[in-house]
Amino acid sequence: MLYGFADPEHIKRERAKGKELRQSQWWRQELGKGICYHCGGKFPKEQLTMDHLVPIARGGKSTKNNCVVCCKECNTKKGHKLGVEMTIDEMRSRGELGPETGGFGDDGDSEGDK
Ligand SMILES: [Zn+2]
Repeated sequence: MLYGFADPEHIKRERAKGKELRQSQWWRQELGKGICYHCGGKFPKEQLTMDHLVPIARGGKSTKNNCVVCCKECNTKKGHKLGVEMTIDEMRSRGELGPETGGFGDDGDSEGDK
């Protein structure tokens, strides 16, 4: 599986597929429901876009499983979070960064107070 930068051919191909998918009956139905996958809000379909759960640039594909309805607001928010920030958030949510303060046990410090 490819993470990091996908090759340009992949991006080109999957973008084209995304375009096709947007014209499909399936996508029209999804838009018709009008529900944003991320925030669960209801929007008119002019406010909705297609979002790839795994971005094409990271090796994601334009399949029904990877494409969701997304409101413009969520799309913008997500856009700001791409890259490093996203990784930090992911790590934090998996507990890989540990708590900010560090050290769980407080066994009384004899060196006087901070
Ligand atoms: Zn949303």
